[in-house]
Amino acid sequence: MVKNVKLKVSLLSYTTNPEQNIVAAIRQCYSQVGAKELKEKTNKETRERLIRQIMASGHTSTLEHASFTFAVEGVSRVTEIQLVRHRIGCSYSIQSGRYVKRGEAQYVIPPVILNGDKKVLKKIKKHFENTQKLYNELLDLGIKAEDARYLQPQSLKTKIVVTMDARALLHFLTLRCCRRAQWEIQALAREMLRVVKKKAPILFENAGPSCVSQGICFEGDMSCGLWKTIKGAELKTRIKNE
Ligand SMILES: Cc1cc2nc3c(=O)[nH]c(=O)nc-3n(C[C@H](O)[C@H](O)[C@H](O)COP(=O)(O)OP(=O)(O)OC[C@H]3O[C@@H](n4cnc5c(N)ncnc54)[C@H](O)[C@@H]3O)c2cc1C
Repeated sequence: MVKNVKLKVSLLSYTTNPEQNIVAAIRQCYSQVGAKELKEKTNKETRERLIRQIMASGHTSTLEHASFTFAVEGVSRVTEIQLVRHRIGCSYSIQSGRYVKRGEAQYVIPPVILNGDKKVLKKIKKHFENTQKLYNELLDLGIKAEDARYLQPQSLKTKIVVTMDARALLHFLTLRCCRRAQWEIQALAREMLRVVKKKAPILFENAGPSCVSQGICFEGDMSCGLWKTIKGAELKTRIKNE
């Protein structure tokens, strides 16, 4: 029986008082007093003002002083490949296909297929079942999981631990909450945003695609047009004379 696995994102850990940490780092740049004291003494209003100020100016290296570690489950290898393209300020640990034997078939099925033609869905599930059966046969024949896994499709679900510092996370959210990103990584990014917003509401208050976070869409002809619904947002190019 093929299981259609649902996306699950949990926050494993994160920097204690992430916004206070960041503000202590911001203030340290201009203060004779040490960061510990600055962290303890900065009030909520100043904290909010300073975070908004550095976000607006783009001087965001101080955001690297807070990080978030997520446990991600139920994403496909397709999304794993897209996720690990984010290199800067990001760390990954991924369930190994060499050491973890996939005893039962667990695959991600795109909603368009899941909610579409029943006959097509049946065929796809059959294909997954056959693949899993053959995979198990190979293991029974003594073939190592690291070789048997070559049979598995990209829809095979995986588990990932990912840590991102806040600067990297905001960049990731800009690219992957955008409607131009594929549905699965978009769902992952949106879920990550929902989770971290509870821990650092000021830091992530405007996080999301560039039309939301900066009021600019850079997608040109490929734009989904969401920017048109956002007050003051514009469609822009990064090239000066265009
Ligand atoms: C909608 C969408 C479609 C995509 N389609 C494709 C595709 O068809 N094929 C494909 O291969 N990829 C594709 N990608 C992946 C994309 O090209 C990036 O690899 C991915 O989004 C990671 O972005 P990044 O490099 O900005 O992130 P990071 O690797 O985290 O880098 C963050 C930032 O650091 C800086 N940086 C990082 N490395 C360097 C460097 N070596 N030199 C200078 N500055 C650096 C850059 O400013 C960069 O934006 C797609 C991404 C999206 C969102």
